[in-house]
Amino acid sequence: MATKIPESPKVGMVSLGCPKNLVDSERILTKLRSDGYGLSPDYAGADVVLVNTCGFLDSAKEESLEAIGEAISENGRVIVTGCMGDEADKIRERFPNVLAITGAHQYEQVVSAVHEAAPATPSPFVDLVPEAGLKLTPRHYSYLKISEGCNHRCAFCIIPQLRGDLVSRRPDAILREAEKLVEAGTQELLVISQDTSAYGVDIRKQPRMWKGEEIVPHMTDLARELGKIAPWVRLHYVYPYPHVDQVIPLMAEGLILPYLDIPFQHASRNVLKAMKRPANEAKVLERLKAWREIAPDLTIRSTFVVGFPGETEEDFQYLLDWLDEAQLDRVGAFRFEPVEGAAANALPDPVPEEVKEARYARIMEKTAAISAAKLAAKVGREIDVIIDEVDEDGGANARSQADAPEIDGQVFLRDAGHLAQGQIVRVMVEEADEHDLYGAPVTLNR
Ligand code: SF4
Repeated sequence: MATKIPESPKVGMVSLGCPKNLVDSERILTKLRSDGYGLSPDYAGADVVLVNTCGFLDSAKEESLEAIGEAISENGRVIVTGCMGDEADKIRERFPNVLAITGAHQYEQVVSAVHEAAPATPSPFVDLVPEAGLKLTPRHYSYLKISEGCNHRCAFCIIPQLRGDLVSRRPDAILREAEKLVEAGTQELLVISQDTSAYGVDIRKQPRMWKGEEIVPHMTDLARELGKIAPWVRLHYVYPYPHVDQVIPLMAEGLILPYLDIPFQHASRNVLKAMKRPANEAKVLERLKAWREIAPDLTIRSTFVVGFPGETEEDFQYLLDWLDEAQLDRVGAFRFEPVEGAAANALPDPVPEEVKEARYARIMEKTAAISAAKLAAKVGREIDVIIDEVDEDGGANARSQADAPEIDGQVFLRDAGHLAQGQIVRVMVEEADEHDLYGAPVTLNR
């Protein structure tokens, strides 16, 4: 039976006031989109309506109150944010039923209020952000969505049906959002989209001005500018198109993290063809080698689907052998599952469940061994980590440049009680296991 995708809750937005307020609205909506929310153009289709108010003049306040009144009578489930949020009593006096009131620039609070009013239903089949990441991300890292939709038609995926073809955001809007996130405390930007390397193909001929210079909507140009804004920039969902070669030197220069999340999904030509994905696995191996020569610390994360219809033992063994060659640092695997509406559901030769299970166990064993060997090679080295959490016993959970939050490993630190969340510090790696590292901060007067 095909898995049904839960519908995502929809948010309506009424944005009043100046362009700054509009940018705030855009930022709130971007965050909500990356948290899995849909947008509603009208009151009727919205599960909750956000009114971003202006409180600059009395007339603007009156207009804001009227907008809140209209949203309450048309929809009923209303959250108020923006400048007038500072006058919560006035709003409550007139509209005691508003669900929540937050003030200007209180992005985290307003997003949190939406999560409470209309909880998102995470789905591993459509969400870019890992399920555990659907909780509000801490201040020191933020997901930055650069486009929506996808031009590919992978047989197991329903994203193009749900979200349409790729639509890229303007590069200047993305960079402005990145700057605001960094001003608000973000140290690490996680660039997400369905296909990050395709960024800009739809708006390539529309360069925009950024800091007095033209910026072309292209992944490399965007990555370079983002690298100037945030200490850590991590690229997710990159297809290995030839132009990805151009971002590797940015990693070698230290502008963006030497990390690529490339969902290869499989290596066997037959399976890739059935999946309707490009089948150039031999070329990919050559390119991985070339990339590692330029950026030796490059971490490559990927995901694979096992048990796709028609996958033979030979195909699967080819994948395992390919993994031996590719030596990917981080691998996630999924057993194929039909998703309602996906073309793959009609394919012949389904793989029996017990075979899928066995193959899943085999790929996990193989990739865990590769990961363990790669991590063991880091013992005795000094590396940079970002602090995620400091505990009461003087330890801290951190991540290295090789670890994206929620999906990769961690670096567990001792003697780290003096550190703070979001700090980037140098540590000595003392031990390693299959997925994580253990170490201690390097003291300056050692
Ligand atoms: S690249 Fe394929 S799997 Fe990814 S969103 Fe597009 S259609 Fe889906």
